[in-house]
Amino acid sequence: MWDEGPHVSFTKHDYVKQLFADSVGQQFNEFATIVGNYFRGCWITHPAQVSLHQVPEPLRSQCVDSFLKTRRGAGTAADKPADFQEWLDRAFGPIFAENLPAVYTRKYWTRNPRELTADWIGERVHMPSVDDVLRGARGPLGKNAHYITKVRYPTRGGYQAFATKLRNEANIHFGSRIATVDLIGRRVILENGLEHTYTQLISTIPLPEFLRLLPSLPATVAAAREALCCTELMVINVTARHPTRRPETWFYVYDEDLLSTRINFTERLSPHNAPPQTTGIQVEVYGSRFRPFAGDVTALTRQVVNELSAMGLIDGPDCVDAHAVHIPWGNVVFDHDAKPALEVIWSWLEQFGLSRESEDTHPLTNWAEGARRSTSAGPLAFAGRYAQWKYFWTDDCVLRGQQLAENLSC
Ligand SMILES: Cc1cc2nc3c(=O)[nH]c(=O)nc-3n(C[C@H](O)[C@H](O)[C@H](O)COP(=O)(O)OP(=O)(O)OC[C@H]3O[C@@H](n4cnc5c(N)ncnc54)[C@H](O)[C@@H]3O)c2cc1C
Repeated sequence: MWDEGPHVSFTKHDYVKQLFADSVGQQFNEFATIVGNYFRGCWITHPAQVSLHQVPEPLRSQCVDSFLKTRRGAGTAADKPADFQEWLDRAFGPIFAENLPAVYTRKYWTRNPRELTADWIGERVHMPSVDDVLRGARGPLGKNAHYITKVRYPTRGGYQAFATKLRNEANIHFGSRIATVDLIGRRVILENGLEHTYTQLISTIPLPEFLRLLPSLPATVAAAREALCCTELMVINVTARHPTRRPETWFYVYDEDLLSTRINFTERLSPHNAPPQTTGIQVEVYGSRFRPFAGDVTALTRQVVNELSAMGLIDGPDCVDAHAVHIPWGNVVFDHDAKPALEVIWSWLEQFGLSRESEDTHPLTNWAEGARRSTSAGPLAFAGRYAQWKYFWTDDCVLRGQQLAENLSC
């Protein structure tokens, strides 16, 4: 059983927890994750910034020195960092920042940290205390510092089983492709010629694709659309005919010369995901217009299998079945162009009934009760990670749906 990219639910929201649990008739696994990092042949507990004892010398001492110097220096003021590079340098010191997270940023986000903003971070990257870094440089920290501690995953049916209730109770017409959206006449015209009129339209289509469905765009809006950047993924699914060789649920790969970026073991999520005595390894490889995939799918798959062999995850390239799945929409990239581009797009769409919201150009949404209810949905609204151009997890998408449903005017 392969998910479209590895997924687990780590939501803190009771509404989503209950919806997902009801969707699978309470049949889910809840477990503590073991998250790791692979760095130049070493296995490092996650987050690596508080597990420096597993980083080889002399880099370990250089990381500690640079961290302490940074924290004691003038650069620790609470003023807003200009970009992700500045955030990393201040949080970890420049040596650790350059050797691990900056490299990972280039692989995962396909951009340099200098090119990204710092407003998407939230609790996603752990900001360590001095005490934790020093203790973690001497030996195991003895506590979980990762923002994900316990996760849930359906016992059977893969991650999509959590959407069963939503899917079964919705009126969905599959197999209809949209030709045009007429925002003036409030019509959606399908490729088969059928037309649907609407009083309120909620789009979950990735925003650049939605804009392509409009008959014409002003040049400024077309330019803003082109400025938006999202990564794409090649997920390499590998089945090895032996049990997993590692204890991790998933881990991150920091070496820049390895394509593998995040690696997940499917049978760790549910034993029903893989036949007994096999391991299902999902490897994420990222690309974008800034970092196109190197080589064709066959070459890429072969390289990833060789990397798994070199990391000791499979007993050899010949004991596996491997196939690649292309996922066109991966992670919205929060570079310096994204916010101004969204401002242009949302402002232009206002004339067609879009109600501007307080955080509509910000990567994150505050789901606190008051903030959630203050939204009023007009004739045109957007919902989801790619439609709203947000750093959303699945629970954010569900909550957005709930928010819009509560605020519909009809
Ligand atoms: C590799 C990876 C791992 C992730 N892991 C996790 C995780 O562990 N936990 C978690 O909570 N979240 C995770 N996420 C995030 C989660 O997948 C997203 O937040 C969520 O799926 C986004 O839902 P959505 O409805 O916004 O987009 P989607 O589910 O992608 O829906 C967009 C829809 O638009 C359709 N579409 C595209 N173009 C058109 C068009 N022209 N016309 C009509 N329809 C179109 C697509 O077919 C698609 O169905 C992960 C994401 C990725 C990429």
